[in-house]
Amino acid sequence: MENEPKIALVVGGTRGIGRAVALRLAKAGFDLWLTYRSNNEAAEQMQAEVRELGRSCDLLRFDVADHVATQAALADRANAAAPYAVVFNAGIVRDKLMFWMEPEEWDQVIRTNLGGFYNVMRAVLVPMLAARRGRIVAIASVSGEIGHAGQANYAASKAGLIGAVKSLAREVGPKQIYVNAVSPGLIETEMTEGVQKESLMPLIPLRRAGRAEEVASLVQFLCAEPDMYIHGQVLSVNGGLAMQ
Ligand code: NDP
Repeated sequence: MENEPKIALVVGGTRGIGRAVALRLAKAGFDLWLTYRSNNEAAEQMQAEVRELGRSCDLLRFDVADHVATQAALADRANAAAPYAVVFNAGIVRDKLMFWMEPEEWDQVIRTNLGGFYNVMRAVLVPMLAARRGRIVAIASVSGEIGHAGQANYAASKAGLIGAVKSLAREVGPKQIYVNAVSPGLIETEMTEGVQKESLMPLIPLRRAGRAEEVASLVQFLCAEPDMYIHGQVLSVNGGLAMQ
């Protein structure tokens, strides 16, 4: 990175994949804005770790599904100092077969995983466009690429996210804002603690789940690499699951 510290906003940046992304970006020289919804303990621990790395770390607690709360948390600060990198990582699952799925299980997942991306972009895009530089990475999922039984809500949210990323890439590319999606397969985090992983292993040529750091390495590249011509793409990190 060049000399002056740049700001990276990691939405859902205090646990799991977002946490690994944030630590990598801090090590790469970014100052951080980390958002989360409710787990103060994880957030404060993260803040201490980032400060030990010599970088600043602002914690922002809000529900990304809430448009008004998202604007209140992000719009003024983004207008004051446009973030260089924005990683939209917040995501939830409410798995159930579609014929049993309740309306709120559908809505909550769509509003968080897909609506959240719109809410965050609405707060940061104008200042980023004015700065005429930047990187945006959205964390999608293999479910959004190929579907997964029991995840119609989640797969729809992630497929929608991919569509939003590709459209946004066309809109803001001319201003040198790079927009990509990273699509993980099965990754060891709290989100997948209850998943029966053994049954999925025959589908994964590497025969193991991935680690959050193995997603974060690619996200860091997309956020910080100066020699980059990757734009509007969906990059899979899945151990060979769903090879294309
Ligand atoms: P975790 O559940 O471990 O962490 C999620 C993070 O997002 C936490 O920091 C959480 O905050 C935050 N968050 C969740 N909902 C909201 C919300 N409504 N508003 C604000 N922040 C929120 O998830 P993972 O690390 O496993 O997943 C990260 C991303 O990667 C998600 O988008 C997920 O869909 C995607 N993914 C994960 C895979 C996996 O196998 N783990 C596979 C494919 C994609 P708090 O701590 O306060 O709850």
